[in-house]
Amino acid sequence: MTSRIRNLTGVLGILALGILIGLYFRDELVSESLPIAKAQTTNSSSENDGAVERYSPVRSRSRDFYAPNSEDLKPDEMRLISCGTGMPTARPKQAASCWLLELGNGDKFLFDIGTGSNERISALQIPYNFLDKVFLSHLHTDHFGDLDALFVGGALSGRQKPLRVWGPSGDTPERGTKYAVDHLRKALTWDLDGRKGITDPRGYFLEVNEFDYRGKNQVVYQENGVTIRSWPAIHSLDGPVSYSVEWNGLKFVFGGDTFPNKWYDEYAKNADLAIHESFIAVPDMITKFKFTPQSALSVGTQIHTAPEAFGKVMSRIKPRMAVAYHFFNDFDTSHAIYERIRKTYDGPLSLAQDYMVWNITKDDIRVRLVAFNEDVWPPPATEKPQLPDPSERIPYSDEISGGRLDVKDVIQPIYDEINKQYGINEKQED
Ligand SMILES: [Zn+2]
Ligand SMILES: [Zn+2]
Repeated sequence: MTSRIRNLTGVLGILALGILIGLYFRDELVSESLPIAKAQTTNSSSENDGAVERYSPVRSRSRDFYAPNSEDLKPDEMRLISCGTGMPTARPKQAASCWLLELGNGDKFLFDIGTGSNERISALQIPYNFLDKVFLSHLHTDHFGDLDALFVGGALSGRQKPLRVWGPSGDTPERGTKYAVDHLRKALTWDLDGRKGITDPRGYFLEVNEFDYRGKNQVVYQENGVTIRSWPAIHSLDGPVSYSVEWNGLKFVFGGDTFPNKWYDEYAKNADLAIHESFIAVPDMITKFKFTPQSALSVGTQIHTAPEAFGKVMSRIKPRMAVAYHFFNDFDTSHAIYERIRKTYDGPLSLAQDYMVWNITKDDIRVRLVAFNEDVWPPPATEKPQLPDPSERIPYSDEISGGRLDVKDVIQPIYDEINKQYGINEKQED
């Protein structure tokens, strides 16, 4: 019941958002005299682009939000969606670090897969075969805590190929990405063994690509016209990295977690969009996040980047759009972050929250929010499912199997119905 109410609340929230957006545009309409230059369009009714026309009571109008899978990605366009922007303690409003970068050539990349972010990914309803590449900035759980959920849940919901993971080495083998992913795989032994012989097996494999965290602007990925480079970040221990993606004359930079550093200063230059952490302001860390003053100063300004320092970094690299994340973005905290950043930076700025969308082309960067349906089911599989080999099934012991109640009489009608509907001849287990 509780979850039904929550779902209903979510749906009502989305409807309310839609109505508010509608009212906003209606008010705009009323306040301006007709005829009105047509608003920038992103959907199909664009035959009058650039022309002056009257709004119609029956024709569709461009949307001021992004509805997943409702817009084509143009061949020269990048689309970035924030699937996590907050802190290690994921909360309903903000999961931990995760960024989906979609390119007009069809490639999609996930940068970080922090705790709670898999839920945001599911809201976008992208076929999981398209979400097979993850780049980790470092191995804090707020940057890779949902890797298991994407790995197993993605395979169950249509990823019919291995999940590919890129990440840095550490100063010892045990602190590297390969060690972490190999041991995550071991931790999932019971889960994966229990799926053998039951579901399409092809997605339950991990490919790990570990690279030297000390590489300076080194190429770590180059396929299909896309070049991804890494350089060291300074955060907690040796190991963290930042990334850039260059494709089709556009450059995207994801800093991960880092203290301001000379490599970001050099290699993030000329970015069309640059993400860098900007931590919770120290006074809010003490009063709202319950840090001691000592650890707030240390964590908020030395391990991470304070908003004033974020501004200094962006003033030096001058991206077309600077994106600040890694803080709880609320009505009573965002002002402090904004004002502190504005002490040192006056360029284009997004204070990130979950479900933001940036459409990036050479000419324009458009920023909106995603409007989504909470009642999402898995997206379509892009290839035909492969039936599992039942002989791979690991059986119950006789003791546990012997505890099954006989419910064959009530289950048989289900088999009869499905066998008839799909022309198959499945039988109940003995
Ligand atoms: Zn971290
Ligand atoms: Zn972090």
